[in-house]
Amino acid sequence: MRWRGDKQSKNIDDRTGSSGGSLPSGNLIKGGGIGTIIVLALVFLFSGGDLSSVLSTLSPSNDMPTVAQPQSEEMVERKEFVSVVFAHLEDFWGTEFAEAGKSYQQPTMVFFSGNVQTACGPATSAVGPFYCPGDQDVYLDLSFMDELATDFDASGDFAMAYVVAHEVGHHVQQQLGVSKQVQALRSKLSEKEYNQYQVRMELQADYYAGAWAKYIEGQTFEGQPILEIGDIDEALVAANSIGDDTLQMKAQGYVVPERYTHGTSQQRKNWFARGYQYGDFQHGDTFNAQDLDLK
Ligand SMILES: [Zn+2]
Repeated sequence: MRWRGDKQSKNIDDRTGSSGGSLPSGNLIKGGGIGTIIVLALVFLFSGGDLSSVLSTLSPSNDMPTVAQPQSEEMVERKEFVSVVFAHLEDFWGTEFAEAGKSYQQPTMVFFSGNVQTACGPATSAVGPFYCPGDQDVYLDLSFMDELATDFDASGDFAMAYVVAHEVGHHVQQQLGVSKQVQALRSKLSEKEYNQYQVRMELQADYYAGAWAKYIEGQTFEGQPILEIGDIDEALVAANSIGDDTLQMKAQGYVVPERYTHGTSQQRKNWFARGYQYGDFQHGDTFNAQDLDLK
């Protein structure tokens, strides 16, 4: 994908704790410190709380100013790349919603490393990239790009673009009210039945990622096509590598279809491809599709 120098999204919340740019020796102060104690003290004084308990919860490390580590050139690149992808997703979905007479609220991309607090609860990198409907943020630990290449054999920038587009697909579902409808079924269905809705939800996010890829195919930057040869294949390989059957087979050596929550490799690949073929809302109705395999 051609992306260097292209427009970046402004909806980025970088919580990796590393400073922007490559400073020779980090000199940005962050974290707790005396200011935090004063603010907490004021809050507690006004709320009539016991201040000593607040102060004792501040560990010594919180009292010491921490120095931000300069980030590697590779990390700077990854952030820029994802920001460019995110900006293209904003353009695409903004237009799609406008054409459908709907308004689109843009999500925020949160970069984190290790663990993160979200409106959906605390999370670690182990869960992979995810979307939280509660705060409408996409959460991404950029080390996932290494995992994609090593654990899933899905290298290339467009594999990552597909993952980001899939998560934004969940945001689109949230905006359209689909997530809420599916969530409402949770208490009414058995786990096995609910999982089937989950699968349809995930496959629709794959379809939306494909729809975005079709849009990107028609875009240029500095007079050159943005999509490069092999990009779509990278996305298809990624979709294929994170199918439930493939993951279960790898983890336990056998498959349990009732436990599928994202769809098989074949289904994920096919729904992405379908999105790439049609690029509209109509053809992405996974909830009423007779055959999820799309054979
Ligand atoms: Zn998903």
